[in-house]
Amino acid sequence: MMKIKSLDKALRRKIAAGEVIERPSSVLKELLENSLDAKSETISVSLVDGGISAIVISDDGEGMDRGDLELCTRRYTTSKIETEADLNAIETLGFRGEALASIAEVSRMQVTSCPRGDREAHELVVVGGEEQEPIPAARAPGTTVKVRDLFFNLPARRRFLKSARSESFHANRVLQRLALTKPGVGWSLKHGQRTVLTAPAVKTLTDRVAQIYGAKTARRLIAIEAEQDGIAVSGLISRPDLKRGNRRDQILCVNGRPIEDRGLSYILASAYKGMLRPGTFPIALIQINLPSEWVDANIHPRKREVRFADAKAVQAVMSRALQTALSSQYVVPSMAGVRSSAREQEASYGAAPLKFALRRRLEVSHVAREEEKTNVHGDRRVIGQLQNTYLLVEGPDGLEIFDQHIAHERILYEGLKEQWEHGEISRQQFLLPVRIELPFEQAERLAGDKEKLQRVGIVLEEFGGGTFLLREYPSALTEGQSRYGFQRPIEQIVDLLAEGDELKEKLFDHLLATLACSAAIKAGDHLPLEQQQGLVERLMNLDNPYTCPHGRPIIFSIPRAELDRKFKRA
Ligand code: ADP
Ligand code: MG
Repeated sequence: MMKIKSLDKALRRKIAAGEVIERPSSVLKELLENSLDAKSETISVSLVDGGISAIVISDDGEGMDRGDLELCTRRYTTSKIETEADLNAIETLGFRGEALASIAEVSRMQVTSCPRGDREAHELVVVGGEEQEPIPAARAPGTTVKVRDLFFNLPARRRFLKSARSESFHANRVLQRLALTKPGVGWSLKHGQRTVLTAPAVKTLTDRVAQIYGAKTARRLIAIEAEQDGIAVSGLISRPDLKRGNRRDQILCVNGRPIEDRGLSYILASAYKGMLRPGTFPIALIQINLPSEWVDANIHPRKREVRFADAKAVQAVMSRALQTALSSQYVVPSMAGVRSSAREQEASYGAAPLKFALRRRLEVSHVAREEEKTNVHGDRRVIGQLQNTYLLVEGPDGLEIFDQHIAHERILYEGLKEQWEHGEISRQQFLLPVRIELPFEQAERLAGDKEKLQRVGIVLEEFGGGTFLLREYPSALTEGQSRYGFQRPIEQIVDLLAEGDELKEKLFDHLLATLACSAAIKAGDHLPLEQQQGLVERLMNLDNPYTCPHGRPIIFSIPRAELDRKFKRA
């Protein structure tokens, strides 16, 4: 008996659909690409439950007539290519004629469309791949696609969808990426009744960046440009003093198609080598344009990658564009400027209050010690700072070396943790609220997570357009912080919250640790001697001062006996 069987048509179609459509955001991506291919000027999106219950996209593009509607949801029907030769020079985002078919297969879909310059609209309904006759409808030129109950007939897939919140983040990202590659198109996005993004058409990429990431970020990007032998590279990249904790804000676009490419990512990372700390990444919005015959767009099921006829040539042009921009006089003096002004800020907002605070604590701990008499960890005298990073300390058994950042982080973390366990993190109110500007995607997340932030002592008020007013912050962490120092921890917290699904009860611990880390004294910070002493005493008063909760050692010691041995004294 043969073991190989031919699958029936319905099953084949479902398998094929699964290759293209993974989750609501993949539906969104395909539909947006269709609207762009139809030369739309404005595209509006509305999602219900992060797209799980419904995704609705309306455009003002060239539309479809009754005959087109009838064909559009069938597999391998497309208006974008006709012959095999066309595959060698793809100029549209779609070309396989499989997206609408795949989506229709696994949802309840409704397409309403009216061709440009026409008055007659029609509507097509397809349920789980079963299409009905198009019927007359009312609509201005353009197309509306409604996709409801994704994977209703593919329970295995549906079970793997994440929460509505989590799916919304993916969808936001898809829209954000496309919006950043097409400034000339106007976009809007709603989650349920809430409008979360309105970005009308603008002339320049900088204007688009301002709409998406905020004006402050837009001002801190620099333009890149280079061209050679028909390969043109242009775009915006961040100055080295503006960075992100992940690669999400890097968009490479080849002939208008956002793609991923290891070779080009490597070129980008190399250009910033030595300018950014490990684990931080630049913002980069890069457009590469070259004759379409030099790119194969038909190599990836979700069209996420392309193949270049001459990848080396493309890399060389991009590399030159980056080098020129990053070494221009524009970057160098402003870097220097940024550095010195950061110091001044430290000086005016930072060092003084911290010193004062520590001195106050020091007195308190002296008093405490007088009462307790015995200090279990023994007395310690700070000798001084080594390269503004380590504290050299005379301890009961010899020399001890403290990592000043880890020590301070540990003190702050334990303090927060104790308050947390007692029910509430004490907060300090700002007289003047601190403005925090977030890209819309993060702003969205934050708006939904206000309550969790409040639990860790952060009170923010939504101001609109991605701006928030920071009203209160954990009081243990405000001393010595400049007003500019709150932006980054809040960004980190928002990112952590996005992964909240996975972290569960560990989440708050992570949040507290992140806050403590960002507020702690850094390696390289110069500290006056009494502040060094204060730090050591506060650390030694903790239950277990020797290692941080994640196992990193805080204190390294060289006992007197070992020194004696080294000097052949023993
Ligand atoms: P592809 O984009 O690869 O051609 P799709 O299945 O995504 O395949 O779409 C099939 C066809 O439906 C497209 O080629 C296009 O002619 C038409 N179409 C889809 N969406 C739209 C839209 N928003 N406006 C106009 N035409 C559309
Ligand atoms: Mg398509």
